[in-house]
Amino acid sequence: MDQIIIQDLSIYAKHGVYMEENILGQQFLVSVYMDLDLSRAGQTDSLEHTLDYGKICHFVTKYMQSHTFKLIEAAAEHLAQELLLTYDPIKKIRIKVKKPWAPIGLPIKNVCVSVDRTRHSVYLSLGSNMGDRQAYLDQGIKEVDALDSCKVCERSAVIETEPYGDVVQERFLNCVIRVETVLNPQQLLEKLHEIEARADRKREVHWGPRTLDLDILFYDHVTVNSPNLTIPHADLHNRSFVLEPLCEIAPWYQHPVLHKTVRQLYDGLAKDDAWL
Ligand code: ADP
Ligand code: MG
Repeated sequence: MDQIIIQDLSIYAKHGVYMEENILGQQFLVSVYMDLDLSRAGQTDSLEHTLDYGKICHFVTKYMQSHTFKLIEAAAEHLAQELLLTYDPIKKIRIKVKKPWAPIGLPIKNVCVSVDRTRHSVYLSLGSNMGDRQAYLDQGIKEVDALDSCKVCERSAVIETEPYGDVVQERFLNCVIRVETVLNPQQLLEKLHEIEARADRKREVHWGPRTLDLDILFYDHVTVNSPNLTIPHADLHNRSFVLEPLCEIAPWYQHPVLHKTVRQLYDGLAKDDAWL
């Protein structure tokens, strides 16, 4: 992949475990390796088709100076997150933070941490059938977007649907969203559970009433099979309340196990219903 590389940008900032480091500050050297497609910029020779590295340097300097972390690991992690979610063309990023004046009392050129992060594209479904259903969906979307590690990029219309399964309960409101995230699947699931819990969600009846249900449908084209997480979502191909809104924002998306597009899965479901 093409890259833009910024090497050893010198920044005076206040990261460190010791109080003196947070008060007096010290020098850090930050390198940024950004994977992105530069072919368009190369062909057109036009600045609008590339990333302005000057802007990135100012962004990095401002970020490092307006935050204080104990660890350079945390500085690198948050900076990587922030750059990936702010600049769409960056597909992958490597951040190196060097600390030439690390207070260890021995002659050393510098210590350095290096982190590699990637932007992932994820589809989530949201459902609610208790209380102010629309407000719970809106709150869920807002909270996902408010996470440092996630950005909501698209949302479908909200549809009203009959409850699924055998439990007698109120009708649902459902929608799906596309999210970009730097979290891995397990970390994302944990964040979604926290958001559900904040929406007064209690896990009492399986498939029972809920204020807010947040499920991971697809995560890039990855498959996950672990005790608490299945991706693609194990039942999504049977659920018209998932496929209908998904058809609105990702009809062409191919299910990585069933090898059918969302549109094909939805059309297949509609055909099956016609036989009932
Ligand atoms: P459901 O969403 O099927 O109606 P719950 O929301 O109560 O039921 O989820 C039960 C469990 O399903 C969760 O605790 C979670 O660990 C697990 N799970 C497995 N795969 C997924 C997925 N793709 N998205 C969300 N939860 C999942
Ligand atoms: Mg769920």
